[in-house]
Amino acid sequence: MTADSGDDPHVHRLLGAYVLDALEAEESATVARHLQRCAGCAAAYVEVVDAVSLLALLDVDDLLE
Ligand SMILES: [Zn+2]
Repeated sequence: MTADSGDDPHVHRLLGAYVLDALEAEESATVARHLQRCAGCAAAYVEVVDAVSLLALLDVDDLLE
């Protein structure tokens, strides 16, 4: 690992919280900016959105069956 240089780090580990709108406004803006320029993180973001959407479709009753 290199030291944190603030040199446009990837945002994979923030995507979950970003999708759930759980980030600070500043972090959220950083993620949004990065996603516009990084195809890799943008693809990961789409996957997280898909996963969260599927979870949202699940009903608690279904899980308890
Ligand atoms: Zn990235």
